[in-house]
Formats: sequence, structure tokens, C-alpha cells
Amino acid sequence: MFIGAHVSTRGGYVNAAKTALSMGANAFQYFPMNPRSLATKVVNPKDTSACAQLCKENGILSIGHAPYALNPAVDETERELMVNLLKNGLDITNACGSIGLVVHFGKYTGIEPLQGYKNIIQCLNSATASYTGASLILLENQAGEGSQLGLTMEEMVQVRKLCERPDKIGFCLDTCHAFASRLWQGSDWFELETRGAQLDYLPHLKAVHLNDSVHPLGSRRDRHANIGAGHITLAQFQELLASPFLQDIPIVLETGTGTDGTHREEIRLVNSLLERKCEDDSCILR
Ligand SMILES: [Zn+2]
Repeated sequence: MFIGAHVSTRGGYVNAAKTALSMGANAFQYFPMNPRSLATKVVNPKDTSACAQLCKENGILSIGHAPYALNPAVDETERELMVNLLKNGLDITNACGSIGLVVHFGKYTGIEPLQGYKNIIQCLNSATASYTGASLILLENQAGEGSQLGLTMEEMVQVRKLCERPDKIGFCLDTCHAFASRLWQGSDWFELETRGAQLDYLPHLKAVHLNDSVHPLGSRRDRHANIGAGHITLAQFQELLASPFLQDIPIVLETGTGTDGTHREEIRLVNSLLERKCEDDSCILR
């Protein structure tokens, strides 16, 4: 499987890949551009291709995470800015050989939620209209903090279906957000798996953000905890990790680093969950 963490791009994209390797990861996430700005970025093609090459040689899968303020649900007046950022981000993740660019589903502050969905579809259509790369836009489910959009698989599947280029759109499941919104209740992975497969959500799941939750089930709060330190049990993570839909996609931690300043120990813990069988039959790996 492909387990890793979010890493810094200090020193370039190729350095992000090297950091992942050095902590025993075979997957990682990075910010293609400044996460706290809405400025586009000009990159050094030597750096992006070196990143792609290093990942290929070492069997590493990567994903990029779009800036926090990239909101595809905004109204038309701000859309061009978001479209340009999406295109820029996709070009970078594509050049780095990444599976996709993770984008939060979007927050809509207007009165009519339907307009929010329409805006997202328009934004995704414009961003992918002339895009020919292999890297996908990966819509991430939301915790429900300050917005009611993007909390269910049904919504995400519908938005993808209604886009002009659904082949350029996939999904990223954040386990903390899913637990906060009750998309995943911790104890119901097998039901979720059956429904997610029927809905055509899981076949397009291209990445996982593996995070525990500081707050209890249904809190609608987005506070990541280290694996085993929050409200999701290790046995529940084990069930999720054993899913056939997770076997060949990047699974990355977005949690705090350990005492050595890296995710080495937490990656080791996650890898141990893949091997270990629980006492009761509920989480024996299939
Ligand atoms: Zn996330």
C-alpha cells in the first residue's frame, strides 16, 4: 500500500519526495503553491520533472493540496481567480507526476445552496475545458464547519456527474472530516463501502487523508488528531485500510509530526495496522 504524510516543499518539489523517502513513506502530499495566498506560481521545470522521476524510480505516489482559499463555490465575479489557480495547480501536480490536486469541495455563503453547487460545476468546467494532463482534480469531503456543502458521497458523485469532464475529476476522502460530518461513523465502514461502490464514489476515490479526530462523532469540527489519539479507534482504521478501494492509492497523514519532527513513527504505526489482525473477527484483513 502507499502510506505517507504531508511534507514541506522547502528546497523544491524534488526535496518533498526525498523527505517522504527518508521517513519510510511511499506516498506524500505537498502544497504546489503557497497555501495561504491566491497567487499563481511559476515553477522550475527541472524541479518538477526531477520530482516526477524520483517518484517513478522509487514507486512513490503523490498528491498536491490546493491553497486553503481556493473555493470553487464562489459566485461568478470571483470565478476567474479560482479557475486560474486550479489550472496552475493542476499544471504543477501534472508536471510533478502526481495523481491529483486535492481541492476542498467549496463553501457557499449565499442564501440558495443550489447556486453553490452550480458555481462549483461551472468552476470545474472552466478549469478542465482545455486540460489534457493526467493529474486529476480531487474533491475533498468537508467536516461541516461553516458550510453545509460537501458532506455526503451523494453530493460529490452528483457534482462530478454533472461536470462536462467527469474523467478529470476524482475524490479524496478525509477520515477526520468524514467522522465529523457522519459520512463515516467509525463503526460502519462495510455499509459505507457497499453504498460508496453502488453510488460510484469509491471507484473514483484516488486519495485518502488519514486523520484521527480530536472531536467526537458528528461534531462538524475540523481538528485532526494523530492516529490513535482521537475518537476513531485503531480497529476502525484497520477496517478502512483493509478496503479493496484503498490498496493502490496514496494515503497521507495530515497530523502533527512526532518527537523527531517527522511522521516516521506514525507511518510505522499505520503500516503495523495493515499487518496486524484484531482479536475479534470484525477487522480481520480481507
Ligand atoms: Zn484533508
